[in-house]
Amino acid sequence: MQVHKNIFLFDGVGYDSNIYLIDGEVLVDTGTGAFFSETKDEIMKLGFGPRKIKLIVNTHCHFDHTGADKKFRDWTKAKIAIHKKDKAWLESGRNTLAESFNEQARSITVDQVLERGSKIKTKNFTFEVIHTPGHTPGSICLYEKNHGILISGDTIFSDGIGRTDYPGGSKRDLLFSIKKLTRLKVKTLLPGHGMPKIGGASLLIKQIYAIQ
Ligand SMILES: [Zn+2]
Repeated sequence: MQVHKNIFLFDGVGYDSNIYLIDGEVLVDTGTGAFFSETKDEIMKLGFGPRKIKLIVNTHCHFDHTGADKKFRDWTKAKIAIHKKDKAWLESGRNTLAESFNEQARSITVDQVLERGSKIKTKNFTFEVIHTPGHTPGSICLYEKNHGILISGDTIFSDGIGRTDYPGGSKRDLLFSIKKLTRLKVKTLLPGHGMPKIGGASLLIKQIYAIQ
């Protein structure tokens, strides 16, 4: 499903996270891997190929967002990126909650370490990394200022906020992170699970923050 010109959403089935493809160049999150071949087919059907995909960005280390990283890397040869504070857990598989999905933790090598202010550029977009700890210590959101797009991982959804009862979680940090998001001009909110909010997302973010 196209959620913005040049951005496609492959919506997560069951526990799987949403997967976004930006300009056919950058994948944001990969799901558990249970639906890898279906997602791959959909990407091909849209006319995109593995060669153009150069980077896989993980919004955080959890297995439902990163379980298919290795499969996608094998297919595309893309590099894998994550915030520095979630890097060690993704690499070791520790605290990625793989067991909750009846899977074995997978270890994976991170190629690119992200931090606050890192830029992710594609043909039509420049996303900036916003460090939004709370759900995990290295959770990030990706913000595209010119187009007003926020890819929010498990920090905020169209109908609520992320859980903070997992390892490294902090409600206080999460609320501080969401407060940062209320200051951004957002038209389109692209969350890690559930439906996107297309149009007027700034107001929604403020409303969600206000009821916490
Ligand atoms: Zn998560």
